[in-house]
Amino acid sequence: MKIGFIGLGNMGAPMAANLAKSHDVTGFDTVARPEGIALAESAVAAAKNADVVITMLPNGDILRVVANEIHALMKAGAIHLDCSTVDVESARAVAVQATQAGLQAIDAPVSGGIGGATNGTLTFMAGGPAEAFATVQPLFDIMGQKAVHCGDAGNGQAAKICNNMILGVTMIATCEAFVLADKLGLDRQAMFDVVSTSSGYSWSMNAYCPAPGIGPQSPADNGYQPGFAAELMLKDLNLSQMAAKAADADTPMGQAAHDLYAQFVETEDGNGKDFSAMLTRFEKRGRG
Ligand code: NAD
Repeated sequence: MKIGFIGLGNMGAPMAANLAKSHDVTGFDTVARPEGIALAESAVAAAKNADVVITMLPNGDILRVVANEIHALMKAGAIHLDCSTVDVESARAVAVQATQAGLQAIDAPVSGGIGGATNGTLTFMAGGPAEAFATVQPLFDIMGQKAVHCGDAGNGQAAKICNNMILGVTMIATCEAFVLADKLGLDRQAMFDVVSTSSGYSWSMNAYCPAPGIGPQSPADNGYQPGFAAELMLKDLNLSQMAAKAADADTPMGQAAHDLYAQFVETEDGNGKDFSAMLTRFEKRGRG
């Protein structure tokens, strides 16, 4: 397959490099110039002869700008596969625009982070036509370990923000419970042993424990180097609250998680740290 890859940042560069082992990949980025990928001079040049154009960009506004540049010049019937995390509205608008240009669009945000992108073990959650999903399945197989078709355009983004809203809320709940346990004189290892095998268990506790030295290896054991940065969690919680407002969904826990991560990243010391460093925030505080 001939692939155009636009957005060669932390995630895009290793994803494109994995595809380039078995496909003809031409990449473009306004800033990054990673080695090992053939580079074009513009987004249009990377996209115009491609069967599939993958975008891996920072947000929905940039996605819309790039889609505007490339759609009219892409090959008839080609697929625009957007793997960025963006707002549901932008994903749906870009899909409509693609269809009007005689293209097919799939939104397929990922989970798995930079490690998953490098090792080809990402999980994709995809929205868009089943036929286009089947066409890009071999690319998902190279870049990841699992791809779930979630329905129509935008549903990949919907799945991603719902998942990450649960993740943000459960991480905060796990962190505050550890600090309550500390203050009650309950040993952290005992707390982990009980909760990880009881009804309070979750991915945040069992697989990504925010307490250093407890549970499997996680960013907590590495000075809270991200992993999944607190500012990226804030981005996703922002997207879920935007979507909740647009859909008139009542999401008080999502809102509370959003507000806490906003405080942590914007006015405290959370920027650049893993999102599980929320534990250190609670350690420093009392109720006041
Ligand atoms: P990044 O900032 O490292 O990469 C984005 C790249 O897009 C940059 O290199 C930037 O120069 C480029 N870019 C911006 N505007 C452009 C344009 N008009 N044309 C071409 N290139 C342009 O971000 P990232 O960490 O690679 O994340 C990419 C997407 O993946 C984001 O939507 C993010 O939310 C999502 N995501 C990231 C992670 C993670 O752990 N980093 C995990 C899951 C999802």
